Amino acid sequence: MLSELLKNKSLFNQLYIIDKEIAEQYRQMPCSYCGGPLYFANYFRKPRGEPDGVDEKCFIRFSLCCGKEGCRHRIMPPSCRFIGQKVYWYIVILVIISDLQNEKINIFKMSKLFNISRNTIARWVNFFQDIFPSSSQWQIIRGRVSALITNTGLPSGLVNCYVNFKSTVEDSLISCLKFLSQGSDFHQKIRAG
Ligand SMILES: [Zn+2]
Repeated sequence: MLSELLKNKSLFNQLYIIDKEIAEQYRQMPCSYCGGPLYFANYFRKPRGEPDGVDEKCFIRFSLCCGKEGCRHRIMPPSCRFIGQKVYWYIVILVIISDLQNEKINIFKMSKLFNISRNTIARWVNFFQDIFPSSSQWQIIRGRVSALITNTGLPSGLVNCYVNFKSTVEDSLISCLKFLSQGSDFHQKIRAG
């Protein structure tokens, strides 16, 4: 099962490094509103579902703020660790729902196995069935993957596609999350303060 990977704390570190690189690329761009310089305004999040011993730095949500007086726009660089305001790590949600679809395990068993409430898992299923396929995030990147990946087969169809092309399952998930992050967050510009 893919969810076996959730015991691997180095995976969380690798995802952190990717987010850090992406955030640094965004920091070097000018503010899209006023052209001013961007500065880091990071904060800590407390996602759930990681193994013991994951480094504290992995919990940092990179965030940028325009330094020009009177603008101060905040920009969230894309992330492959966090998905919107969801409480669990993106990778946790992705592999649990993929296992649910691939292995034909029911929500009740999955809930017991991971000590996550059935309601929470059911909400994730609904998210991938009803919300994600029509989200701008998916619309932006949809054209870059095979038409064989159907909206009804998300997310396992996409994850399995990466698993078939990469040498290790770890690399597959990292690439898949990196791909998914490309459609995320960039358009969410929140005025700070
Ligand atoms: Zn600005």
